[in-house]
Amino acid sequence: MKVLVLASGGLDSTCLLHKAVKEYGASNVFALNVYYGQKHAREHDCFLWQMERLGIENYESLDLSSIFTGYKGCTLLQGGGDIPHESYAEQLAKKPGTVSTYVPFRNGLFLSVAASIAIQNECNMIWYGAHADDAAGNAYPDCTTEFIMGMSDAIWEGSGHTLNMEGPWSQLNKAGVVAEGIKAGMTQEDFEHTWSCYEGGDKPCGKCGTCIDRKTALEANGLKNC
Ligand SMILES: [Zn+2]
Repeated sequence: MKVLVLASGGLDSTCLLHKAVKEYGASNVFALNVYYGQKHAREHDCFLWQMERLGIENYESLDLSSIFTGYKGCTLLQGGGDIPHESYAEQLAKKPGTVSTYVPFRNGLFLSVAASIAIQNECNMIWYGAHADDAAGNAYPDCTTEFIMGMSDAIWEGSGHTLNMEGPWSQLNKAGVVAEGIKAGMTQEDFEHTWSCYEGGDKPCGKCGTCIDRKTALEANGLKNC
């Protein structure tokens, strides 16, 4: 088994990286990081730290920001306006549909690119870190079970039945993902080298949707918020 992991340097995909290395060994893991024009590079710094920590030599950092150049409809992207300082549930209560930090078909785009790179690197599995909290209320429709099953089928067919795709966290909430990370051997220091906050400050803002989720998930597992 050789697995390509889509890894942002965020919490969820870093837990997935640790699980992949524990199960298959670092030499059988290919990590793909994608820059898409987000407002800061904090996640990428964490991604590189984790490569070193886990001894992953097969990795690539890809720049797909040109796809989103000029788009103003997403607050995660440069030029996209201010990021809301409230939970996803509060945002969805005000305005049903996708949240303002939804990046148009981001995971569909990334998984298509990942499939091509996986085949070129003789991987037979792609993992990505979508979890149930992201899919809740359809806040991020490219994180739902339906989406994962559809993409998985497309990749299986389009690769000539050589490449599988799974979202191992799709049935877990963020606290469940952290628990899996701990099971895979992650320490407090490892969690400190993940970045969730949508803002790019020196420290996490503590107020955006993902900061709120992260704090709850870490503390539910007896870890310090970081
Ligand atoms: Zn934040």
